[in-house]
Amino acid sequence: MSEIAIFWHRRDLRTDDNVGLFQALSSDLPVLPLFIFDSIILDKLEDEDDARVEFIHSELSKVKKAYEKAGGSLIVRHGKPIEVWKSICEEFNVKAVYTNRDYEPYAQGRDKEIYSFLSEKDIPFKGYKDHVIFEKSEVVKDDGDPYLVFSPYARKWLAAVTDNTFKSVDSSSKLDSLYQTDPLPMPSLEDLGFKSSEIDAPSKEVPKEIIDTYDKTRNFPAQNGTTKLSVHLRFGTISIRSLAREGQARNKTYLNELIWRDFYQMILFHHPKSPDEAIKPAYDHIEWETNEEHFKAWCEGRTGYPIVDAGMRELNETGYMHNRVRMIVASFLTKHLLLDWRWGERYFARKLLDYELASNVGGWQWASGSGCDAAPYFRIFNPTSQLEKFDKDLKYVKQWVPEYGTENYPKPIVDHKEARERALSRYKEGLAKT
Ligand SMILES: Cc1cc2nc3c(=O)[nH]c(=O)nc-3n(C[C@H](O)[C@H](O)[C@H](O)COP(=O)(O)OP(=O)(O)OC[C@H]3O[C@@H](n4cnc5c(N)ncnc54)[C@H](O)[C@@H]3O)c2cc1C
Repeated sequence: MSEIAIFWHRRDLRTDDNVGLFQALSSDLPVLPLFIFDSIILDKLEDEDDARVEFIHSELSKVKKAYEKAGGSLIVRHGKPIEVWKSICEEFNVKAVYTNRDYEPYAQGRDKEIYSFLSEKDIPFKGYKDHVIFEKSEVVKDDGDPYLVFSPYARKWLAAVTDNTFKSVDSSSKLDSLYQTDPLPMPSLEDLGFKSSEIDAPSKEVPKEIIDTYDKTRNFPAQNGTTKLSVHLRFGTISIRSLAREGQARNKTYLNELIWRDFYQMILFHHPKSPDEAIKPAYDHIEWETNEEHFKAWCEGRTGYPIVDAGMRELNETGYMHNRVRMIVASFLTKHLLLDWRWGERYFARKLLDYELASNVGGWQWASGSGCDAAPYFRIFNPTSQLEKFDKDLKYVKQWVPEYGTENYPKPIVDHKEARERALSRYKEGLAKT
């Protein structure tokens, strides 16, 4: 059996500008790439037409084709990662394993287990930074503590950028180092227990003007003013370095948003319990409401606040929601309805095509005040003035809530002023308990 190296794809579903793949192809072993549909993750998904599984499946088919054009192929398996690795090591003479690092708590635990398994067989398991610009503790305070506030983090991030930071690696020109094989089988979506979704992913081709005018258009949900590349960044079908170069050259506000992404990845790495616990522990003393009817109305976009309802309906129908509106609906859930941010986080986790633990938990904890926000909890978005500021012609609202303005549109489920006062006093009481 010939000796090979395996490159394990996870959140990097592309062959170009892929650091771990480049390193594997630069070694002296022929490379056989692998992807595992992780049954531990898939078994938890509630919807059999989950659009993310279809997206991964379709992007993997493209990656596999690219390898096959170069005489190689892609192993695609379905199962528990450790079990898959056991069988891969029986089937092939694996001498080294390459991958790109993943900073989520589940992934870190999984990788430790695989690392121990491979170590027992004397197989090196090599990880690389590919998914972010700066990882782990590369950008921290002078005393080594991680930042909890974005602005000083962003300043230090920008100061750490050198001429090489955003450079691409030419992995796709090295595909002649692939292990040569006939095309390997790939499970269908149905084999995985899923079926096709009605939701389509936004295109990877973004008109240049969007980044050029990003700082002026990004806050208005009715405009096509943001890139909608989040799903591609999430699954690595596009390289973060290529987008950072665009931002650096053409629009600093856009680059700043990419820094938010790194920021939340860094926060999750240093606060692995943050998906379940408030980053500022005092906020776990807040006594949340448990009104299921309110939660249902929020999920379905029937709160009687048009900007909130438009956002939730956009999410339910397309798997996407504009960032400004994500902030408004998250503030509404945690402040106006006084429902636990974890309920909202989990609903977004089910629905967002670009769902990504670090940014989602970061965004939700930001909205509830318990996370990384320099502003105090008593900043409560007023959904009516947000509507006037960001959708004053009601273009976005009318797109998603056609019955708005008719008698079929629901009355507000809470009164803004009363809800605001209730939130202020409940937050105050909760924080006083510490
Ligand atoms: C409550 C809440 C939950 C969120 N959940 C997610 C999530 O699960 N996945 C996700 O990718 N983003 C999440 N975001 C961040 C942001 O809303 C989306 O990244 C953005 O709307 C995606 O659209 P876009 O690609 O057009 O972004 P653009 O405006 O084009 O921005 C460019 C890229 O920068 C990154 N980015 C932009 N804003 C943020 C931000 N505030 N935090 C982190 N990264 C950012 C994204 O990768 C995005 O694709 C959340 C924000 C909030 C307030």
